[in-house]
Amino acid sequence: MAEAFDFVAIGSGTAAQVAVHRMADAGKRCAVIDYRPYGGTCALRGCDPKKMMVSAEEALAAYRRMKGKGIEGSVSIDWGDLQAFKRSFTDPVPEKQEARYERKGVATFYGAARFAGPDRIAVGDRELSFSHALIATGAEPRPLGIEGEPLLTHSDAFLELETLPDRIVFVGGGYIAAEFAHLAARAGAKVTIVQRGRILKAFDPDTVDWLMPSFDDLGIEIVDAEVNGVTKTAGGLTVHAGDRMIEGELVVHAAGRVPAIGSLDLEAGGVAIDDGRLALTAQLRSQSNPKVFAAGDAAANGPPLTPVSSHDAKVVVDNILEGSGRTPNYHGVPSALFTEPAAARAGMLESEAREAGLDFTVSAGSHPGWFSARRLNAQIYGHKVLIEVGTRRILGAHLVGPAADELINVFGLAIRHGLSADDIKSTMFAYPTAASDAGYMVG
Ligand SMILES: Cc1cc2nc3c(=O)[nH]c(=O)nc-3n(C[C@H](O)[C@H](O)[C@H](O)COP(=O)(O)OP(=O)(O)OC[C@H]3O[C@@H](n4cnc5c(N)ncnc54)[C@H](O)[C@@H]3O)c2cc1C
Repeated sequence: MAEAFDFVAIGSGTAAQVAVHRMADAGKRCAVIDYRPYGGTCALRGCDPKKMMVSAEEALAAYRRMKGKGIEGSVSIDWGDLQAFKRSFTDPVPEKQEARYERKGVATFYGAARFAGPDRIAVGDRELSFSHALIATGAEPRPLGIEGEPLLTHSDAFLELETLPDRIVFVGGGYIAAEFAHLAARAGAKVTIVQRGRILKAFDPDTVDWLMPSFDDLGIEIVDAEVNGVTKTAGGLTVHAGDRMIEGELVVHAAGRVPAIGSLDLEAGGVAIDDGRLALTAQLRSQSNPKVFAAGDAAANGPPLTPVSSHDAKVVVDNILEGSGRTPNYHGVPSALFTEPAAARAGMLESEAREAGLDFTVSAGSHPGWFSARRLNAQIYGHKVLIEVGTRRILGAHLVGPAADELINVFGLAIRHGLSADDIKSTMFAYPTAASDAGYMVG
């Protein structure tokens, strides 16, 4: 006999949490299911643990910049202590989340969920029936189809390393590779990134060019080649990339993630897929089963970012509770690259704005001489802002340098709410802060 629920979420990450708490607050009987500790990727295996570790990198980078400018002594990263510091945040997360569900009367299930019918989900030998279900299973590393693929380590395991290997190779050159490469190199590892073509393709190419000296300074080698396979050797692993053979003790898969929907028995649930992705309406509802919705990385409707997962979940709940026909709005969503220094973007790339036929001017420049960079003895500081002709609205903003990851939020706000370059110019920001440069960045 199935246990009956108004709402069942598969997954306990950001999307599931936001949706389940809102549904529970609305008086609905809810269940949440996960086969891993509760909390999801961001809190346990992604943004938060990563940023806990980036804190050490920031401290070390600040020390190096200021050495001889009033700071002396020697400083280094102790990887074991850093792991312990990270775990002081991550370890309590599952228990805290379970307690919060309990307080709201949400039923918690542990195990891999799969559909057992169009209104039924099975977890182990238990069955739950639902009025509505949410697929919030997140993403998993993209299968590469190369020889020796099982030898690759994933980002989850990288963030759990008890000791840092001497030589690390990253397969793929997206944001996870860049962030981990900076962290590992600064902690003392010899790092190689293998990526065919440019790295960090999702970021503005000029911004990335300005950032590249930071990779050189850390001795990170970037190999422009396609990885054909990985083999085991006496000393570790060898990555075969074009005509290069790159040795490493650890090879990390950083070549993209895809929705984790393969084990859900979607057919039993009548949930259609299209080209490996869930077939969804604009309201994030399954096109084939109106009782089922998806959100976050599993939906792959917007960029794979935590604020997007949260936003999707709110849209789904509104659509279930109010039948509002609400669609997600990803306009101006910022994203940051937590290298040291950071890079960030919000809104359109210059190439996207040109393809869209928009009429705009570009305010851009590299200016390590500005006060915000000078006071930190930082060599990398640059911006590119796209401003629409006529309306003077901000179409896109691309930053690199100290505090780029915070300053981008000013531009994200402006883009999302249609503010103009003049609105930014006429705003008084606290001085001297990174945000006080925003006015200069819009021309
Ligand atoms: C290394 C890394 C760094 C990142 N850094 C950032 C960042 O700095 N900023 C940012 O905005 N985003 C970042 N992200 C992306 C961000 O973490 C995700 O976009 C976000 O966590 C997705 O949330 P979600 O709720 O969609 O899925 P998740 O949080 O991934 O939750 C999915 C849950 O579903 C569970 N699950 C899967 N299948 C089943 C099943 N069959 N049965 C039961 N449970 C199941 C999983 O165990 C998991 O707990 C990062 C991701 C990674 C991997």
